Order: sequence, then C-alpha cells, then structure tokens
Amino acid sequence: MMTINAQGYATQSATTELIPFKFERRDPRPSDVVIEILYCGVCHSDIHSARNEWGGTQYPFVPGHEIVGRVTAVGNKVGKFKVGDLAGVGCLVDSCCSCHSCNDGLEQYCDNGFTGTYGSEDKIGGTPHKMTLGGYSDKITVDERFVLRIPANLDLAAAAPLLCAGITTYSPLKHWKVGVGQKVGIIGLGGLGHMGVKLAHAMGAHVVMITTSPEKGQDAKKLGADEVLLSKNADAMKAAENSFDFLLNTIPVGHDVDPYMALLKRDATMVVVGAVEPLTEVSGVPFIFRRRSMAGSLIGGLPETQEMLDFCGIHNITCDIEMVNMKDINKAYDRTVKGDVKYRFVIDMASLKS
Ligand code: NAP
Ligand code: ZN
Repeated sequence: MMTINAQGYATQSATTELIPFKFERRDPRPSDVVIEILYCGVCHSDIHSARNEWGGTQYPFVPGHEIVGRVTAVGNKVGKFKVGDLAGVGCLVDSCCSCHSCNDGLEQYCDNGFTGTYGSEDKIGGTPHKMTLGGYSDKITVDERFVLRIPANLDLAAAAPLLCAGITTYSPLKHWKVGVGQKVGIIGLGGLGHMGVKLAHAMGAHVVMITTSPEKGQDAKKLGADEVLLSKNADAMKAAENSFDFLLNTIPVGHDVDPYMALLKRDATMVVVGAVEPLTEVSGVPFIFRRRSMAGSLIGGLPETQEMLDFCGIHNITCDIEMVNMKDINKAYDRTVKGDVKYRFVIDMASLKS
C-alpha cells in the first residue's frame, strides 16, 4: 500500500491531552486532491468529539474540520484544481453520491451516511487507519467533490472557520429565507454565533444578538448586530416576546428552550444547531398557540458551502480569529469551553514543524 507520511496532533483517550502523532494519508486516486494544510479552525465540535462528550469517539483521534491550504498534488481525473491552488475542506470528505440527498447537493443528509472529516469510518481506505483523521495535521488527501475553492481576496487564516462555522449558520439562514425586513435573533456569541451575526447582517436582516454575556454587547454591534438582548434579563426577554421572525440557536449544551420559543412571532421558526443533548422538557404551548416551529440544521452540502464561500468573497466576510500554535491547542480547548475566545481559534500549521 502506497501512502503519504503525515504528522499532526491526536488524543489517545477522552481524558488525555492532544499530543504529536505520526500517521498516513492515502496516495491520491485519480479523483483525489492532496492539500498542504496551512490553517485549521478549532470548532467546539472538535472538543465534544475529542472528549467523547457525544459518545462513540475512537482513538487515536485527530480533530479538525475547518481546513484551508494549498494543493500539492492532483489525480489525473481532477478537473477543478491544479497544483498551487488554494483549497478548503469542511466537515465532509465522502458520501454515497447517489441517494436523493446527495443528488440534491445535500451530502450532509446522505441516506447512506456521510463520512466526516474526522472520526468516521473511512470507506475509501488506502491507509492502515480505519477511521478518518482530521485537519490538525500537515496534509490531507480528499476527493475533489469534497474540496472547496477559497476566494483569493479573503485572508486565508480567517477564512478557515467558514468551512464549518460559516456554512452551519449560512445554510439555515438561506433555507428559512432570512432577509430584508425580518428581525432575526442569533443565540450565543461564539464561533458559530459571530458568523451568524455577520451573515444575517449581510443578508439584510435586522439582527439581534441574544447572549448570556453582557460584556460581549459592544462586540456584537461591531460584528453587525443592530441590538443586543441579554437572555438572563427576564424583563428584557419578556418585552421581546412575539417579536422575532427567526431564531438561530447555537448554544452548545442542552438547555431550556421555552424562553427562546416565546420570542418568536406567529408561524416563526427557531433552528437549533448546537445542542445534540436532550433539551429540557418542551411545553406544547409555544408551538400550539402561535403555530411556531422548532427545527434543526446540520452544516451544509458542498454546492451550498461553495455558494457561502463565494458570498463571503463578494461581501468580504471572514471570521474574527485568534491564531494559536499547535502546541497550545490544549489551552485553546479549555479557553473555548470557558467562552474565552474572540471568536474562533485557528491553528497556524507552520507551528507544527517548529
Ligand atoms: P462556542 O464557540 O463555544 O460558542 C457557544 C456560545 O454559546 C458561547 O460563546 C456562549 O455565548 C453560548 N453558551 C455557552 N454555554 C451556554 C449555556 N449553558 N447557556 C446559554 N448560552 C451558552 O461554540 P461553537 O463552535 O460556536 O459551536 C456551538 C455548538 O454548535 C457546539 O455544540 C458545536 O458542536 C455545534 N455545531 C453544530 C454544527 C451543526 O452542523 N449543527 C456545526 C458546528 C458546530 P454567549 O456568551 O454569547 O452566551
Ligand atoms: Zn465544526
């Protein structure tokens, strides 16, 4: 078996830190692109998975699904990329490519199960590793269908988190047709939430940042929020009831959704993207009395991810990032859990070599 030597950082168990790890990537097949990874964002999902908070994580585990870099090799059937191009990889690296969801460009809802960039069974193979290994590493081999073009005008490091935080917020905003004349609430000002604010603002909505952290209020306005609503202020929450056309909820843990549902107007929807844990008991009242809905949304498919990147290129939208060296990743995890990052850590992969 021909393989490419790679190095990165991995966890060996749910309770141990990320440490240096050598492993193998597959040699490019005709449709594959090999990318030298320059930057990788740090998503809260990386932490949930590394620490096995969602169950099922297999070790060694290499996180990272907000990948940008430069193409170093292409298979002979690759049409979209050539050596030297900028390229991005998000949360998906494979799917069946034949079910109705894949045919609709919604590979994240593949009926036969998508392959995540990390922690999924690697159905393509070509290495000794059973599971996919993510972007906290120096290189990756990916089928070109799952590789994105990065607009040249965007700062490359600050574009990395668009590959997950960007598309996870863009997709529901588009699906629920958020735009001019609508009052939209973004709940939680973290990596996803700050992109939600920027994107909803660029789509023309009146944006309200709904946060537990009063000190983030000024930042929210700089990011494009028109108003800030403190979710711990019961009077302010009461006054805002029945006033929102759409809510995007990025809270990363189970929580009581009733106070947020009460903010929706008749027929409006709250989309949950953060919590996969059980939400506390939900009362039927907010649904029944104003025909409100609650829905969920998972990242986005490949065509929509490219659309989002192009939209960000046109509107010059990137993430607000704090760059970290690979060796400081464990501290970055602890700070992310405490909400102490503005608003996304991005790993400078050059630091892996030093
Ligand atoms: P993050 O950077 O940690 O931000 C989460 C924000 O939520 C925090 O900054 C905080 O904002 C708020 N928050 C935290 N704990 C809270 C609590 N107990 N109650 C109320 N608000 C709380 O996380 P992220 O990277 O944006 O990810 C958010 C969630 O989305 C994670 O669970 C992640 O796994 C998930 N995710 C889902 C998808 C998908 O496809 N659906 C994709 C990527 C990530 P304030 O200080 O402003 O309150
Ligand atoms: Zn993510």
